[in-house]
Amino acid sequence: MATSLDATLDAVLRRNPGESEFHQAVKEVFESLELLHARHPEYAEAAILERIAEPERQIIFRVPWVDDEGKVRVNRGFRIEFNSALGPYKGGLRFHRSVNLGIVKFLGFEQIFKNSLTGLPIGGGKGGSDFDPHGKSEGEIMRFCQSFMTELFRHIGPDTDVPAGDIGVGGREIGYLFGQYKRLANRFDAGTLTGKGLAWGGSLVRTEATGYGAAIFANEMLKAKGLGFEGRRVLVSGSGNVALYAIEKAQQLGGTAITASDSSGYVVDEEGIDLDLLKQIKEVERGRIHEYAERRGGKARFVEGGNVWEVPGEIAIPSATQNELDGESAKTLLKNGLIAVSEGANMPSTPEAVDLFQEANIAFGPGKAANAGGVATSALEMQQNAARDSWTFEDTEKRLTDIMVNIHDTCAATAEEYGRPGDYVVGANIAGFVKVADAMLD
Ligand code: GLU
Repeated sequence: MATSLDATLDAVLRRNPGESEFHQAVKEVFESLELLHARHPEYAEAAILERIAEPERQIIFRVPWVDDEGKVRVNRGFRIEFNSALGPYKGGLRFHRSVNLGIVKFLGFEQIFKNSLTGLPIGGGKGGSDFDPHGKSEGEIMRFCQSFMTELFRHIGPDTDVPAGDIGVGGREIGYLFGQYKRLANRFDAGTLTGKGLAWGGSLVRTEATGYGAAIFANEMLKAKGLGFEGRRVLVSGSGNVALYAIEKAQQLGGTAITASDSSGYVVDEEGIDLDLLKQIKEVERGRIHEYAERRGGKARFVEGGNVWEVPGEIAIPSATQNELDGESAKTLLKNGLIAVSEGANMPSTPEAVDLFQEANIAFGPGKAANAGGVATSALEMQQNAARDSWTFEDTEKRLTDIMVNIHDTCAATAEEYGRPGDYVVGANIAGFVKVADAMLD
């Protein structure tokens, strides 16, 4: 017999046709909440689920810009202001050709619970555009960002909605966006955007934070099982800032991170990724991953196509994009001795992969807990901006580490409380939800 939760889920899916990633994210959270609702009827009575699955505000706008040939181009911009029960909407902007309403809503929905888990006063939001930054000139990127902000600026502010980066939006784009915001608003509202440059209100550790946090979360899950990174092979996908700094922290913790990838393929470096070289290629030159193998003097190999999950390793930190690790890959990983997965990206494992990991009883840290270090450090940037202060790297990194340990412990304790010890999915979803739901009830 269908429960009332099933009926609510059904209604949410029907109201949002064709948004497959959003459906996937909502289903996963609702399934975990069965246990909570059985004990706490007050949430269902107040229709909290119906309310939480409906964004408070959805902004969709035209972004016209002129390319280097003088031709007018048009993209679509989005900002989903999902939930402000805990604080101003907070979440990144993604510029990628795959971006559509369903993707931005899945990301915004995840962000509500992720931000709640950080323990900091931030609501959930997300935005972006189907603009494809690949192959665009510096001038085209700048003009696109300026046009995007020309509409977005009226919707955001330090106490309203605070965007940051995500895929395709890094320090350079935040600079162009902030410059246009400052011009239009005629205010130096540093706290309106996070991920800023260090000279104009940015925070140390923000660049490293998501990747560092995902490795720290993995380490905490391993510690809970009496294990650690020491001497273990670590598989990281992606080569954006999440991947780069997951590799860096995994190596600091004693692991050997041996892979990185981009949309063209992946590299395997059995001695451990040479991070300076990878950073030079990806951050400075904005090059392709095969160049890493070519410049590593025979120590690394490039594999065209495929994915890093074919490579034997014990700890996986998927840090590229949603649904990059499917059931087949999960089976291969498990066969090759996998012991832990910590999601650096948002929803990188498909539901089949998550089921397989959980059946095999390996440590699985879902993105909304494992990659919360990025947005947590954004909230620390907002604190520094509000106080017109800037903290040292050491202080900020210590805050990040404490936050990640606390998220781990909260998820573990909540899973235990609901009779599912070691289930970080249930732990993260229930703990993240309860705080937001109680605020909504209040
Ligand atoms: N895009 C990141 C995330 O998925 C960071 C968001 C932020 O810093 O606001 O959490």
